[in-house]
Amino acid sequence: MNKIIPPYLLRLLTKNFLIWKIKTKEKKIFLTFDDGPTPDVTDKILDILESYEVKAVFFCTGNNSERFPELFSKIKNAGHQTCNHTYSHLDGWKSGAKDYVSDVERAKSIINSSLFRPPHGRITPGQIFKLRKEYYIVMWSLLAGDFYENASKERCLNNVLKHTKRGSIVVFHDSEKSADKCLYALPRFLEHFLERGFKFELLRGVQ
Ligand SMILES: [Zn+2]
Repeated sequence: MNKIIPPYLLRLLTKNFLIWKIKTKEKKIFLTFDDGPTPDVTDKILDILESYEVKAVFFCTGNNSERFPELFSKIKNAGHQTCNHTYSHLDGWKSGAKDYVSDVERAKSIINSSLFRPPHGRITPGQIFKLRKEYYIVMWSLLAGDFYENASKERCLNNVLKHTKRGSIVVFHDSEKSADKCLYALPRFLEHFLERGFKFELLRGVQ
């Protein structure tokens, strides 16, 4: 079975350094997208968000933001939040702290955000120690699982419908390989929670 919720013990041990959820009693959800901007896919996501009047947080790679500057600006101009997801989508477990931090800094020169999400959720204590001086490190409460090759689009929808709660940080991907599943699950997910009085909020409070 695919993992969509991070282990409790990991969240507990790292809660002072990493953001896994937003503490709130209100019906608020924090919708995030990783790995874009991706032509066509991000455009379609922006159209869906606009049609439901929902704002979201995009953790972009510096590389994609540089390759597709108009799309990157389009996200920002629509009132969404753009945040740092490294320049080259580095795996923290396979990179030294110095190289990792300089890749994040390279992305910052393009994205300019104090919010950072490590690709694959992989980050070492040394990298956290260096980055937390300058960044809030945002993890997630649950993954839609849209990037798992063996997951169906119905399963992804079920994941987010079943596990999203007040204060959840939910992750979708605006990437080629997640597109079919994301574009199927997203409008249904938004509709479900909007009908139940939830609001989708940006991560401005922690920025
Ligand atoms: Zn990623």
